[in-house]
Amino acid sequence: MDCLFCKIAMGDIPAKIVYQDDQLVAFEDINPQAPHHKIIIPRRHIATLNEISNKEDSHLAGNMIHVAVKLAKQFNLDQDGYRLVWNCNSNGGQTVFHIHAHLLGGRQMIWPPG
Ligand code: AMP
Ligand code: ZN
Repeated sequence: MDCLFCKIAMGDIPAKIVYQDDQLVAFEDINPQAPHHKIIIPRRHIATLNEISNKEDSHLAGNMIHVAVKLAKQFNLDQDGYRLVWNCNSNGGQTVFHIHAHLLGGRQMIWPPG
C-alpha cells in the first residue's frame, strides 16, 4: 500500500522514532508546530477515524492515547500541559490518511485552534 505512515511503521522511510511496540509507533513530526511535536500511529493501516468501528479498533485508539501520555511524561510536558490532536478528513485538516495522534507541547496553546 502506498501509505507514508505504513512505510514509516515498516522502517522503509526513516523517521526519528521515540516509541515503538508490536502495535504502535511514535516519531518526531518532520514539520514541528511546537517545541515538542510527536506523531503516534498504529502499525495497522486505518485510513481515518471514521474507520474506528469495533472494540478492537477502539482498544487500539485507547492505547495510542496511553502512549501519548507516557511520552508527555517522558518529555516532561505533563505538568505544564500539552495538546493531543486527531484530524479527520478535509475539514479536520488531515493530510496523511493513516490515523495518527499529534502530541504537541512545550509552548502555550491557543483556543480555538485554527
Ligand atoms: P495531518 O495533517 O493531521 O494528516 O498530519 C500529518 C503530519 O505528518 C503533519 O504534521 C506532517 O508534518 C507530518 N509528516 C508528513 N510527512 C512526515 C514524515 N516523513 N515524517 C514525519 N512526519 C511527517
Ligand atoms: Zn498506512
